Order: sequence, then C-alpha cells, then structure tokens
Amino acid sequence: MPDYAVKVGDAEIISVSDGHIHFAPSDFFPSIDSAEWDPYADELTDEGFIRMNVGSFVIRVADVVALVDTGLGEGDHPFDNSEWGLLASDMASKGIAPDEITTVIITHLHRDHVGWNMVEKDGAPTPFFPNARYYIPKADWDVFTRRAGMAMFSYIAKQVTPLMELGALELVEGERSIGDHLTALPTPGHTPGHTSLLVSSSGESAVVLGDAAHVPVQAHHTDWSPRADTNPELSRRNRTDLFDRMEKDHSLVVSGHFPVPGFGRLVRVSGRRYWRAL
Ligand SMILES: [Zn+2]
Repeated sequence: MPDYAVKVGDAEIISVSDGHIHFAPSDFFPSIDSAEWDPYADELTDEGFIRMNVGSFVIRVADVVALVDTGLGEGDHPFDNSEWGLLASDMASKGIAPDEITTVIITHLHRDHVGWNMVEKDGAPTPFFPNARYYIPKADWDVFTRRAGMAMFSYIAKQVTPLMELGALELVEGERSIGDHLTALPTPGHTPGHTSLLVSSSGESAVVLGDAAHVPVQAHHTDWSPRADTNPELSRRNRTDLFDRMEKDHSLVVSGHFPVPGFGRLVRVSGRRYWRAL
C-alpha cells in the first residue's frame, strides 16, 4: 500500500492534497511565546515557518466513498508563499474520480475546507462531485451564510450556498452517523459548528481532526489555540477531550494540516503525549 493510504479495519483512507500554506508561528499562535517553540524547532521549516498541508481524505468503506473537506480550490486566496488548486489533479493521480464520491463531509466553513465544492461548467456553477451528498455543520451554516456579503467570506456564496439551492446539501447537528462507519463528532471552538469525523470498522478507529488541531505540537499542548479560533476556550477544551479520547481508544489520528500524508499515532515519551507520523 502506498504511504498516502492506510487501512482502518475494512476502511481505506487515502490522503489527498490541494497544496500547502505558510504561517509565521507568532501570527498563527499569537499567545505563544517564541521560546515555547524551541523544543519543536524540527516542526518548523528551515526559515522558521509553519508549513501546513491543505489536506483532504477519501474514505472507502462498504459502498461509501467519502471525501472529507475540499481544499482552497482554484482562484485567488490571501496566502503568501503558498500553493493551492491541486486537489483535482492529486485525486486523479491516485486513481480517484470525482463522480465516484458519494459523500462530501465538510468539517467547517473556512475557505481552505470548501474550495472544490463547486466549479464552473459550461458557464454554470456545478458541484465538482456530481453524485455526492454534501454534509455541513448547521451551526457553521447559520453563521457563515449570514456573513456571505462580506468580501472576506465571498467564497461562501460561490462554494456553499449553491449546494442548498441544488438540493445536494444536508445540515448536520450534534453527534450523528453518516452511514454505518462514519460519525460526525461536534468539536466546536475553532468555528461554532466545527466537526471532526470518527471512522470505525471491524473494531478499529480513526479520527479525522479537521481543525481541532493544526500542528502536531498540539497533541501535547492541547491548550495552544490559534488566532483563527472563534472561541479559544471552547476549542482548547474540545481539543483536549478529543486527544484524550483518541489516546484511550488507540485511534489513528488523521489530520489535513499536519505534515503529509497526515496519518499518525499518539505515543507517550516521559509522560508527554506526542503525535508520531506512521
Ligand atoms: Zn484549515
């Protein structure tokens, strides 16, 4: 099996990527003193930046082919030293066709998670995954569709609201199963409706974090909340609970923003919890 794919019970999880984005640690985590990064220098680039993958995951299990998050997509985005718009070609290179996808699950409505929902086809906005049912957290829908008139959130009108008009969208509230093997786990804080995804099959489990964490350091420092969190305190609490749960359940920890391909296990070294890449 190539390193971009893993098995969890009978489910196969394939890591795909739309590109990567760069941040200065002090911009991304303004409340964290630069000295606190010293033990984790190897997690930064040689120039001292956080290099975040913009990752999505395809999950094949039984008759479901789910895609979790859809990247930044093509067009303009406000990131320096970054690259995006690669999801379609990366999926193609890994043998996944857009029309195979039965289910698209969006962890939250930030722009780096919804960018390939819709594309222009013959001049008309069209779902890029034409056979998929899309699932979006209702609490995010409520907040972000209200902001869609603001320039910063103009992507919502392009990538999110048309799905509702087309009848392709379902809003998710609370913990709920999506098919037999996938469960939406509310982990609000980063956004009001932020949702992680539990994959269970044949006694094994994996959790796709979404943005419950952005960098592996947060497996230990679950109190590190980024500037982008709308409710840092709630984010902190849910991140801590989620990592505790994953550690207890020996779940595979799957992250779209951790280093590619984003699969890892939680291990303890001298009492400290680390995320260790597979
Ligand atoms: Zn993100």
